[in-house]
Amino acid sequence: MNHNLPPLPYSPDALGPYISAETISYHYGKHHQTYVNNLNKLLPGSPFENATLEQIICEASGGIFNNGAQVWNHTFYWNCLSPQGGGTPEGELLQALTGSFGSFEQFRERFTQAAATLFGSGWAWLVRKNDGTLDILQTGNAGNPLRDGHIPLMTCDVWEHAYYLDKQNRRPDYIADFWKIVNWQFVAELL
Ligand code: MN
Repeated sequence: MNHNLPPLPYSPDALGPYISAETISYHYGKHHQTYVNNLNKLLPGSPFENATLEQIICEASGGIFNNGAQVWNHTFYWNCLSPQGGGTPEGELLQALTGSFGSFEQFRERFTQAAATLFGSGWAWLVRKNDGTLDILQTGNAGNPLRDGHIPLMTCDVWEHAYYLDKQNRRPDYIADFWKIVNWQFVAELL
């Protein structure tokens, strides 16, 4: 099975000024594409030749896990952003966040902390756990909560390649801008 780079859900300059077209051209056009290419090179003859990305995330290791998970993570990340995003969630999502974290503001504070304090490269996640509650997790490198049985609802990529062209070393500025374009509609549909 050949994996493809899914289309970006908006034009490459649509997230400006928060994420520039230049960052998208590298992050989507080079990094995400390279994970797809590397995965397709590694799969032939492996036990995961016909596996879904979700099966790869849950069962693979080494290069197949790293590249397969990064393909999934990046597609998910692009969907978590929208030029019409930002603001505050409403309805059931707002109720669920309030129920699990006390308030939307407390959720945002805790997620911001998780994204800011992840050491090195990785991802911050909002997940739904088996018991139905929501939680915030950090994963290093290509890590994905599916591997531990949690359902991803939202993610923020905190690899330096996600923000270095726009923000250099200022990860907190990138996270602050993430909140201005986060796609609550997408998160709410997953809930
Ligand atoms: Mn990335």
